[in-house]
Amino acid sequence: MSSRIFKDRGLVLRTRVIGEADRLVTLLTFENGKIEAVARGARKMKSRLAAGVDLFTSAEYTFHRGKTWPLITSQNQLESFLWFRDDPDLYPYGLYLNELTDRLIFGEEPCPKLYQLLLIGWRLLGENGDRSLILRAFELKIVYNLGYSPGLDCCQECGSENLRGFSPKEGSLMCDRCRCNDLIPLESGTIALARRLLQGPLQQVGKIRASIRQKEELTRMNSTFISYHLELGELKSKRLLKE
Ligand SMILES: [Zn+2]
Repeated sequence: MSSRIFKDRGLVLRTRVIGEADRLVTLLTFENGKIEAVARGARKMKSRLAAGVDLFTSAEYTFHRGKTWPLITSQNQLESFLWFRDDPDLYPYGLYLNELTDRLIFGEEPCPKLYQLLLIGWRLLGENGDRSLILRAFELKIVYNLGYSPGLDCCQECGSENLRGFSPKEGSLMCDRCRCNDLIPLESGTIALARRLLQGPLQQVGKIRASIRQKEELTRMNSTFISYHLELGELKSKRLLKE
């Protein structure tokens, strides 16, 4: 992007206070990937930018390229996600989607699929569905879109379909014979669940049912797989979700 002024749709992932009245906002945009931009004066009461730079905002922004960060010069809100503000229990779930996106996406490469994925994730969390399944589906889909898809078809070593669990190190399901040291045992229902969540559209996650055990197994599989292959660091949302 070379022109000095550009417009793009964006989702606010993170926002920090800088200076007296400004905010530094991390946005996932539709056409320009992840952008950090400054909203000057956004902390002033009368600022027209204030509402457009809160967490969980979906808006169309006008940016002006500066020497360091782009400046946000105007915003036009597209959709509101007030449930994250109104429901304290829901907030950490939304924050988790944001933090995962922020840590896994680098640079200003266009990633419209991930933009759509996050937008759908925010919407689904407001619809009283199974929050745990929404998070698990989101994890599988974001790593898939980044090219780190877990192997869920057959045993990576021998091709067997007689599967016993998942190896985070191998990034694949493994059979009885090819057991490895880091195998996370999975019941067959969990394997079927992981496949459905990975392959089906995120919008359909509300139609999927799973037992507590299946969700626990999948939570462990996803989190060990992601932290083995990708640098996540500590997430504030994970701490909040545990509490
Ligand atoms: Zn095998």
